[in-house]
Amino acid sequence: MDLHCHSLYSDGTYTPRQLVDLALQMSFSGLSITDHDTIEAFDEAYPYATEKGLIFLPGVEISSKFRDEPVHILGYSFDPHAQSLIDFCKQHRERREIRNQMMLEKLSRAGMTVTMEEVKALSPHATTYGRPHIALAMMQRGYVEDISFAFRHYLGSGRSCYVEGDKWTVQEAIGAIHTARGKAVLAHPQLLKARSPIEDLLALPFDGIEAYYASMNADVNRRWCEIAQRHGLFVTGGSDFHGKVKPESRFGSSWAPEGTIQLLQQHFLSL
Ligand code: AMP
Ligand code: ZN
Ligand code: FE
Ligand code: FE
Repeated sequence: MDLHCHSLYSDGTYTPRQLVDLALQMSFSGLSITDHDTIEAFDEAYPYATEKGLIFLPGVEISSKFRDEPVHILGYSFDPHAQSLIDFCKQHRERREIRNQMMLEKLSRAGMTVTMEEVKALSPHATTYGRPHIALAMMQRGYVEDISFAFRHYLGSGRSCYVEGDKWTVQEAIGAIHTARGKAVLAHPQLLKARSPIEDLLALPFDGIEAYYASMNADVNRRWCEIAQRHGLFVTGGSDFHGKVKPESRFGSSWAPEGTIQLLQQHFLSL
């Protein structure tokens, strides 16, 4: 099972149905597509997955901030047609447009002109646009050899053309997921810069922690399982698969306890 992956509606390169097909090929029991700030994949993938006997859960990944540090929040098993969550995601995508434009201006000043039209033309199916889409356009123009180079030199946090952009607070993101009757999970805590004590963050009303994250070794994941247990939170896991834009994460290269899938599935069916 894989509870964290991205389709081409955000910054992945596979369609929702292709992700379902991959999950079936790998004999997974469950799948959730967690696009950044959009829940568009659900209506396309759910009937297809269900027909093929795969448990498919509504999912989303929301970019938020805690004391000015970026924190990603995963939402699961919410009402996929909740207008409040659809509007919440749309508002953040509008903020992203401002941030993307600011990054393009910085790139232009650095002699790497890329237009938003080019960025969108290269990823025509995306609903949410962000740095990977800009990196693709930079590659197309020949400014960088690959996406990873673009992040390392220009777009990565703290690099010359990076812009943080305005975000929801973690409280607001958890609140939006709860209002849509879903479960809120702290995404890849292993990647937090953790300038604030983790206890402060976990004092917020989370339901779960993504204790298993693809690229992390077993000891690191185990530490997060213990923290989850201490806080009475359930444990999820995912690969953060994006397809070709992030070849280092392989689909299904993580694990989530069977009990979590059952819990999330039962919650979804009870909505
Ligand atoms: P954004 O949402 O615009 O802040 O971009 C964040 C996304 O960029 C992440 O979800 C990843 O998909 C991608 N990303 C971050 N770092 C890298 C990297 N070094 N190489 C490729 N993709 C990356
Ligand atoms: Zn991404
Ligand atoms: Fe993330
Ligand atoms: Fe992700």
